[in-house]
Parts: sequence; C-alpha cells; structure tokens
Amino acid sequence: MNAKVWLVGAGPGDPELLTLKAVRALNNADVVLIDDLVNPAVLEHCPVARIIPVGKRGGCRSTPQAFIHRLMLRYARQGKTLVRLKGGDPCIFGRGGEEAEWLARHGVEAELVNGITAGLAGATRCGISLTHRGVARGVTLVTAHTQDDSSLNWQALAQTGTTLVVYMGVTRMDQVQAGLLQGGLPASTPVAMIENASLPEQRECRSRLDAMLLDAAAFGLRSPAVLVIGEVAAQGMDTMVSLARSA
Ligand code: SAH
Repeated sequence: MNAKVWLVGAGPGDPELLTLKAVRALNNADVVLIDDLVNPAVLEHCPVARIIPVGKRGGCRSTPQAFIHRLMLRYARQGKTLVRLKGGDPCIFGRGGEEAEWLARHGVEAELVNGITAGLAGATRCGISLTHRGVARGVTLVTAHTQDDSSLNWQALAQTGTTLVVYMGVTRMDQVQAGLLQGGLPASTPVAMIENASLPEQRECRSRLDAMLLDAAAFGLRSPAVLVIGEVAAQGMDTMVSLARSA
C-alpha cells in the first residue's frame, strides 16, 4: 500500500499558470477530486484518471467536508494515487492545511503542491504590482467570510500600510468598506475588483473606497472576485474596463 494524497493547486483559471509539479501529479493520478473553482481545462493533463467533482457550485450543490475526507481516505487506502485539485493555492483559503492534518491523523501522507493564488494572478493581469516599491510595503491576504461569521478587524487592517487583497468579499463588501473607512483609510483609496481573474472572461471594475459598493453594483460584480485595496490598485488603468471610464 502506498497511501499518499496530493493536495494540488490548480491556479486561478488560466491553465498555463499550472506548475510543472502540478502537471506531473495530475499525470500520475488514478483519481482526481476536483473543486468547483478549478478550470476543467487542466484535466487534459490526466487523461486516464477518474474525475470526481466535489465542489459546491458546478455539478453537486455541496459536498460535505467529511465526505471528501472519507473519499480521500478510501482511495488512498486502496493504494490509488489521488490528487485533490483545488483552485488557486491549496493553502490560501483552500483548506489544504486542514486536509493534510486530517490525513496525517489517519496515517496518510499528504504532499502539498503550490498553485498561483487568485489575488496574485488577478492583480498581475490588471497591471497591478501588489508590493510596488515606494507605494506599498507589503500585501495582506484576507477573507471577508469567516467560518464562525465573526467580523474581521478591518479598522486594524486599515492601519497596516499594506495592500489588502480580499477574498470572498463580494457579498460582504459593505462590511469591508465600513470597517476600512472607520479605520481611517482615506475615502479616495483606489480599489480594483477583479472577477474571473486570469480567465478569458476576466473583468475588472476600478473604483475607490467610498464608491466601491455603488460601482460594484452597477458593474454587476459577481463571485469569484478578489478586491485589491490600496494605492497600487490605481496602477494599470490603461487596461481597465471600468464603469468610471464608461460613465
Ligand atoms: N485557494 C483559492 C481561494 C479559494 S477561496 C486561491 O488561492 O485562489 C474562494 C475565493 O477565491 C473566491 O471567493 C474569490 O474571492 C477568490 N477567487 C478564486 N478564483 C478566483 C478567480 N479566478 N478570480 C477572482 N477571484 C477568485
């Protein structure tokens, strides 16, 4: 028995952003459990594997995490080479760490393979340099959606002097905006909202902190999208398809 599960990042959508390690893992896979934000085009790298969708969108409405755990364990114990393919990077809001811990507790080794996370790809594809020297002294990746529904300390985040990249923020934009304004981030702080980053259907809406809600609504911003908030979010405007310009 060769129980091992590969927890692999599929990147943000563009299949060319897959790592060589991810391609090799897919090539060797007997079974692939695929999450909903994974571009199915990457499956060309595993022509013989059994593909099981386990995402919340796509095919099945919602696959409980416990079921996914059991599925991984079953195939691993059968000695199958199992790849658990996740959107972006498995450990950036992807439960990769949780799954690796759970597998370890059950005697199964997990190997994590990085992917390019949506926030990085989205920013780059919009011409935004997240840690542009002299403009931002760092970048903070945060989720607006927490497991226990607790609110993030947006006021504190407003004080970091780093670019904020907000995941799962489309339906919580009011909280993000209110918290950051309360925290002292200027109303004019540039915001880039990037939908379907790195895919042909990528769209971006450029705005500012005080107008982001209205602009996002008028733009029809939909998930999956990342929000980039900070001075660097004004970069790359020549490539923008923004409401502000068409208005
Ligand atoms: N592990 C993933 C994140 C999963 S959480 C990663 O590293 O990218 C899901 C959130 O990721 C979405 O709500 C959205 O905020 C973001 N996301 C994932 N794919 C995206 C894409 N192609 N474009 C924009 N945002 C994306």
